[in-house]
Amino acid sequence: MQADPSALLAAVLADAAAAVDAAADELTALDSAIGDGDHGSNMKRGFAELAGKLEELAGKPPPAMLKAAGMALVMKIGGASGPLYGTLLMALGSSWPAEPDGASLAAALESAVAAVAKRGKSGPGSKTLLDVLVPVQKCLAAAAAEWRDLPAAADEAAVATVGMKALRGRASFLGERSIGHMDPGARSSALLVRSACETLGRLL
Ligand code: ADP
Ligand code: MG
Repeated sequence: MQADPSALLAAVLADAAAAVDAAADELTALDSAIGDGDHGSNMKRGFAELAGKLEELAGKPPPAMLKAAGMALVMKIGGASGPLYGTLLMALGSSWPAEPDGASLAAALESAVAAVAKRGKSGPGSKTLLDVLVPVQKCLAAAAAEWRDLPAAADEAAVATVGMKALRGRASFLGERSIGHMDPGARSSALLVRSACETLGRLL
């Protein structure tokens, strides 16, 4: 049992980095099909940088930890996904509630996902990581913070990107030919959601 929010968040981020590392080849294969084949290496590089900062961030309040983690991703991930995942974490740090509970954390995630949409000038339906982040955020809000449901919702949402035509990012250059492949960013978002929930399930 571990309830300290900083320690929980540090564990979530460390496990997320390990999950990204383990999935790098899969993400690269997805990005090779409809992008430029660097999503796995981009994410791996960014999350390795983030993981390397966790020791110095230990004990910092969640907003400071999230802002530093987001900055690490922005600085280290060369591709489109860096500013987007970086924005997600930094915006979550900005909107982190003073007294976190299910409803206030769901609201914080809603504004963080909205910040990603603004940054990407995008929204759900364009075959991007937002096609996972938005349904996950809605699931969390609707189910009154039943985070245990999120991995299945995220996986289902990632699978649903297979049938979509890309309207944003490199895959959009392929037009109709982007249909039939899972979006790499949707897949990385789903695996991050699953990793975070598994960590919470282990520690709460
Ligand atoms: P790059 O496309 O620069 O090579 P990555 O391969 O690391 O960067 O990331 C690609 C992923 O980024 C896509 O699969 C998609 O999910 C996401 N993405 C790209 N552009 C946007 C956008 N405008 N809005 C939201 N997500 C986007
Ligand atoms: Mg790429």
